[in-house]
Amino acid sequence: MHELALCQAIVDTVERHADGRRVEQVDVRIGHFRQVVPDSLQFSWELLTEGTELAGCRLVVDHVAAVIECQACGEATTLEVPILVCSSCGSSDVMLVSGEELLVASIDRAREVC
Ligand SMILES: [Zn+2]
Repeated sequence: MHELALCQAIVDTVERHADGRRVEQVDVRIGHFRQVVPDSLQFSWELLTEGTELAGCRLVVDHVAAVIECQACGEATTLEVPILVCSSCGSSDVMLVSGEELLVASIDRAREVC
């Protein structure tokens, strides 16, 4: 249950930032290398938020492509499969630029009623 643990981390972050206010939507950015199954993540989210202050809050997932940068020629490659080789020159001397993200991008809080 990889997604459940991941989701728990998101819930913890959101609860810390919600500051007791109702949260309507949470946007997260998840890197390709995290190997997250979207449906599984949504299911975990509903499971973890049910009966809590976050119940009914929408989880919007933005998937971030895995990008490597070649140390030999400087070319950036977006990976479909996790094989770390430059598509331009074939060098394996590459640096992972993106793909490992797990980031809560934004938390939409309900406006406070005065
Ligand atoms: Zn290269």
